[in-house]
Amino acid sequence: MKRLLPTSTAGSLPKPSWLAEPEKLWSPWKLQDDQLIDGKLDALRLSLQEQQLAGIDIVSDGEQTRQHFVTTFIEHLSGVDFEKRETVRIRNRYDASVPTVIGAVAREKPVFVEDAKFLRQLTSQPIKWALPGPMTMIDTLYDNHYKSREKLAWEFAKILNQEARELEAAGVDIIQFDEPAFNVFFDEVNDWGVATLERALEGLKCETAVHICYGYGIKANTDWKKTLGSEWRQYEEAFPKLQKSKIDIVSLECHNSRVPMDLIELIRGKKVMVGAIDVATNTIETPEEVADTLRKALQFVDADKLYPCTNCGMAPLSRQVARGKLNALSAGAEIIRKELA
Ligand SMILES: [Zn+2]
Repeated sequence: MKRLLPTSTAGSLPKPSWLAEPEKLWSPWKLQDDQLIDGKLDALRLSLQEQQLAGIDIVSDGEQTRQHFVTTFIEHLSGVDFEKRETVRIRNRYDASVPTVIGAVAREKPVFVEDAKFLRQLTSQPIKWALPGPMTMIDTLYDNHYKSREKLAWEFAKILNQEARELEAAGVDIIQFDEPAFNVFFDEVNDWGVATLERALEGLKCETAVHICYGYGIKANTDWKKTLGSEWRQYEEAFPKLQKSKIDIVSLECHNSRVPMDLIELIRGKKVMVGAIDVATNTIETPEEVADTLRKALQFVDADKLYPCTNCGMAPLSRQVARGKLNALSAGAEIIRKELA
């Protein structure tokens, strides 16, 4: 990446209201069959255009073809029964009815590869593609087959690696694994979480990222954050191991969060996608607020390794708010570029 402080988003962006009910997670599709297939691709075009109009440097599909960042990927795999549902506690935070693993999990066919090829032919800008990480995948399922979180995570890591290799061949520049579960299950992260992540990116020549956050701006997450006290030190648990891992980029939450900025020092040497946009509020940041967060981060990450980003996905926000936040991100990054020049 030649441009200093290249901007990007954590992943998801709001969908048009003709495709899915707005401002909602797991929002049901409004179209069906062929119309749905076309509608998703039209939305992907729009989402790309909105990122381009805002001046975002590393673009994505805005996750327009998926209902949810974890479940949509799992829906494409065999070995999981979506009719057979059990209630489990997700990330120790809230109960959800989830599908059941009933046999060996496998990826019979590519999941997002055609979408990635479609995005690739629409732009020559660098593309980032998000996939769920192994630990976050197992946390969104009831396992009635392997009966071991670790075993299932290794299976998912193999599957993710198959998908990632094909995404790379389709022209994706950065493959990102979303691992919000890394902020919750610290012993497992260090025992096998980082190792399964490395298995997922084995053999890739493109850049790789891991996104670890405090979640979407939904009530279960904001309630949980209220219990975390005045300093959020969760990153302290996973960062030392990640610093030694093969991952190139770490995407983290900063702006408006209580994460002590100096924790970034623990991943010195890695590229850092610094969350400079709060996704849990409709208030649009000013460019100066974005610049202020980036300026603070520059104490702990070299300028050529700082990638301004959003704290998390923006799927549950309105399109208008998301657009405003993308513009603020670009303008804030530009302030710092001028200061560094
Ligand atoms: Zn996130």
